[in-house]
Amino acid sequence: MPVISLKEKRRQYDVVIVGSGAGGGQMAYVLTMEGMKVLVLEAGRMFDPVAETAMFQTWDMAPLRGVATPDKQKDFYDASIESGWEIPGEPYTNASKDKLRQFNWWRQRMMGGRTNHWGRVSLRNGPYDFKTRSRQGIGFDWPISYDDLAPWYDKAEMLVGIFGDSEGIENSPDSSPGVLLPPPKFRAGELLARERTKKLGVSVVPVHRAVLTERQDAQRVPKKLHPGNKKAQRLLAENMQLRHKCFYATACHRGCSIKAAFDSTSVYLTPALNTGNLDVLPNSMAREVTLDKAGKADGVTFIDKTTGGEHHAS
Ligand code: SF4
Repeated sequence: MPVISLKEKRRQYDVVIVGSGAGGGQMAYVLTMEGMKVLVLEAGRMFDPVAETAMFQTWDMAPLRGVATPDKQKDFYDASIESGWEIPGEPYTNASKDKLRQFNWWRQRMMGGRTNHWGRVSLRNGPYDFKTRSRQGIGFDWPISYDDLAPWYDKAEMLVGIFGDSEGIENSPDSSPGVLLPPPKFRAGELLARERTKKLGVSVVPVHRAVLTERQDAQRVPKKLHPGNKKAQRLLAENMQLRHKCFYATACHRGCSIKAAFDSTSVYLTPALNTGNLDVLPNSMAREVTLDKAGKADGVTFIDKTTGGEHHAS
């Protein structure tokens, strides 16, 4: 019973994850494929991208012709539930009163989190981004380098399905051969821009995006990502076969019911749930990571948003 109610929560899990979006979803995928029993606490409600995506609705079918409201802060069809710059009951503050120094963060409370409505642009951090203190005197140097992370970028890109070209651009690393899907052909305006900017020394290249321009290779990729793990290979291959290639005609921020665009539910959580090792508990807002006597994390205290009751998962 993977999407559970509070009563069905086990007494003990190997891992408790807070959030089902880009980070939580991938962590749940990796750990459950390796056999761990995992609980994901999701602050929002369940969301089915296949059944609930308003891919083909037109504006005249929406209230007020789809204009944004406090509940739907982008537009009526945006794949955002309980989301926005401001969410009732979840105060958000900035240290500075100066608008130019403020950082605003769109929050989203639903299965799959913000992966449901983003633009799918998927660039790697480059070598310089790991060493900003040494190079520019700002921030901190990471204790690892780009080269340490590069093989993991390859794996993530193969799993997610990213299109793009390898262009050799400074600090915008290429992927290894065989990782990226081909980019869509340039349209007339893009061809013109590429031609005219050449003499200025400006490259016009396809962006890297998490959208399938062709079906993923369900024979090759699962074996590469899960060597020696037949169950994981089978579950990933089955999930890849549920995803179709993009037909370039609908608004990706509404979601993608054919699963061409990446979202956490379609790509990470569905195969993770199919392992039988994952429970997802919706409407559960994490409040505190609890520690044992040695000061190590031993669980998460959370609020059941439907009752206001406080509970603990470990
Ligand atoms: S990825 Fe393609 S098919 Fe899916 S919503 Fe975007 S344009 Fe439409």
